[in-house]
Amino acid sequence: MITETAKGIYINGKWTSTENNKTFDIVNPATNEKIAEVPYGSGRDMKLAIEAADKAFTTWSQYTARERSSYLYKAYQLMLDRKEELASILTQEQGKPLSESRGEIDFAASFLLWFAEEANRSYGEVIPASKKNKRLMVVPQPVGVVGAITPWNFPSAMVTRKVAPALAAGCTVVLKPAEQTPLSAIEIVKIFNEVGLPEGVLNIVTGDPQSIGKEMMDNNIVRHVTFTGSTKVGKHLMKESANTVKKLSLELGGHAPLIVFEDANIDLAVDQAIASKYRNAGQTCICTNRIFVHSNIEELFLEKLENKVKQMKIGNGTEEGTEIGPLINEEALRKVKTQVGDAIEKGADLRTGGETWEGPGGYFYKPTILANVSHSMSIMSEETFGPVVPIVSFTDDKEVVKEANNTNYGLAAFLFTTNIERAISTMEKLEYGIVGINDVFPGTAEAPFGGIKESGMGKEGSHEGLKEFLEMKYVSLSLS
Ligand code: ADP
Repeated sequence: MITETAKGIYINGKWTSTENNKTFDIVNPATNEKIAEVPYGSGRDMKLAIEAADKAFTTWSQYTARERSSYLYKAYQLMLDRKEELASILTQEQGKPLSESRGEIDFAASFLLWFAEEANRSYGEVIPASKKNKRLMVVPQPVGVVGAITPWNFPSAMVTRKVAPALAAGCTVVLKPAEQTPLSAIEIVKIFNEVGLPEGVLNIVTGDPQSIGKEMMDNNIVRHVTFTGSTKVGKHLMKESANTVKKLSLELGGHAPLIVFEDANIDLAVDQAIASKYRNAGQTCICTNRIFVHSNIEELFLEKLENKVKQMKIGNGTEEGTEIGPLINEEALRKVKTQVGDAIEKGADLRTGGETWEGPGGYFYKPTILANVSHSMSIMSEETFGPVVPIVSFTDDKEVVKEANNTNYGLAAFLFTTNIERAISTMEKLEYGIVGINDVFPGTAEAPFGGIKESGMGKEGSHEGLKEFLEMKYVSLSLS
């Protein structure tokens, strides 16, 4: 048990409970044991949070960029000081191996540092006018109150990737973390509290997604909603945003292809395919979902991949050396089993895995490789979000790009080749917001992360990430 009743609702600088002191349980997915209880807030709590954020906006938006930056910088330092404690909480609520959780805390902190720096660079423009007596300017201003909705697969980094740029821009925030993993988000709010962030600037409401989400979308005080999660919920939020014409940043699902050309460094491609597919037990939106290998190297690639995957250590993320932790819940496990069952029934060749693992009682699935996969199998069109990879062979460059693009998703794609011309021409044809060339780890605070097509809109990280939370006010001055 992490705490008896974890704090969960923080409004206007105070931790509160909700109506009837209603709570819900947080469960460790590795053991299926309850680790904490958190308030089950509703739209009523979100409304209070929005009103607090609105009040705080009046003063926070008037702080100098340097003043805002100083809070982010202090939060960055405190987060790193607490790395071990935060990583342990993350692993307990989410399941990923401790080494990955430590990496996530570093990643999460990097957004605080980056936007502490970017806060000072929200420049405007002076436009040369076509009339002598006119002076034209563009003045960046914070959009207002921001609603942030975060997912369970990166419970810490997705919070800072949204909250840091919003605060840097001068916005105030109401945050709703995923119901599976609110504890890491709560810790981040505690950090901001400790560094003295003024009351009402950052508020959090845990609880009922539908009711909290509805208030966030209906309330016209909220001017921008930033969301990471499923395409299904993203589409729902898009519809809901129409009534009050809110700005949106959406990071949605993915179906990443990884293409291994004949001239690739095969050992590198194998290691990176494993890192991309199996980290977080396959539960990241840029995880490789389909591997396309040139037919001339397919057997060699498969052999090397299979040998390494068979040796991966599955277990509780708290045990050092664990490489594959549990899936987030029973529903996630069911989805993976269904996809693998469908593929095998339709003729896929199971090279390794393909079954659950009992372990300490949680939702484990063995790392799985499927060869001889065809397009009629659901795994080739649906996002997997589990440690399973289908392998398809190809012979023609043009054909493989067509196959890779044959999806409504457009988040990330990866390719392995030692031929620079092939790398560039393939990159240009891939319909994805992010392309990794011999690199499956493109995510970093200084670069723009975001998808196209049904993978979403807007960018997070980089100077683009700050712009999402700024309105460019155009000013025309007429001299007499
Ligand atoms: P997943 O299927 O991976 O859990 P979701 O899109 O359901 O992804 O969840 C991502 C985030 O969206 C979570 O914080 C979840 O609580 C939230 N969410 C789910 N449904 C709604 C909704 N109707 N309105 C607002 N937020 C929602």
